[in-house]
Amino acid sequence: MKSSETLNQEALAIISSLRSYVEEQRRCGIMTIPAAVLPAAAKAATRVVPSHLKKDYLQAVREEIGDCARCRLQAGRKNIVFGAGNPDARLVFVGEGPGEEEDQQAEPFVGKAGHLLTRMIQAIQLDRTDVYITNIVKCRPPGNRDPQEDEIETCLPFLKKQLAVIQPRIICTLGRFATQALLGTKEGITKLRGRFHMLESGIKVMPTYHPSFLLRYPEKKREAWEDLQKVQKEYQEGP
Ligand code: URA
Repeated sequence: MKSSETLNQEALAIISSLRSYVEEQRRCGIMTIPAAVLPAAAKAATRVVPSHLKKDYLQAVREEIGDCARCRLQAGRKNIVFGAGNPDARLVFVGEGPGEEEDQQAEPFVGKAGHLLTRMIQAIQLDRTDVYITNIVKCRPPGNRDPQEDEIETCLPFLKKQLAVIQPRIICTLGRFATQALLGTKEGITKLRGRFHMLESGIKVMPTYHPSFLLRYPEKKREAWEDLQKVQKEYQEGP
């Protein structure tokens, strides 16, 4: 059996050659990566990832996205909003998709809903820099419309790769789209929220209301707070 050091060196070599390949393609004006290269990079990210390599691995996933034109959202976006925060986070928040402010700044949850999310994170005694924040789709849907099924399907593999690198203990999904996409269900958020669901990888998922929904229906904040308190308890109890 190969040692973890050897596996990490192999993974780094794959990422490094992938990076050179992408740069070369870019110089030639080509943005796609051959299918044969992708499984190797994806596989590298499914191993236990040492903390000090996570930033680089996430960067490799970002480079794999490139100047994405895989779906129609490309047409209206200014920036791809990949994600932000601690690459070694034990808790990840997953939203729906960037809004106008996020599209401008290339940073998730920095508008009105983002300010509420920041306060929600602080309410459980954490900071935005302790957690990782990202979205189901990385480009702004025009006029902030709901992301469509094929757009979610196209973008979801990149979220899964981000999660395979970060390897959080807990994911808090914000709203219906993130929850349904990650849990692979069509069940409504009202039924799913408030209890932990387990992913195959062992990650615990707590669905709660999206901050934009909470801004519209402040009376729902009490339920969201109950969900967050469960997240906080799990976070504090675990490694
Ligand atoms: N809403 C989301 O779902 N994500 C963001 O990044 C901003 C607002």
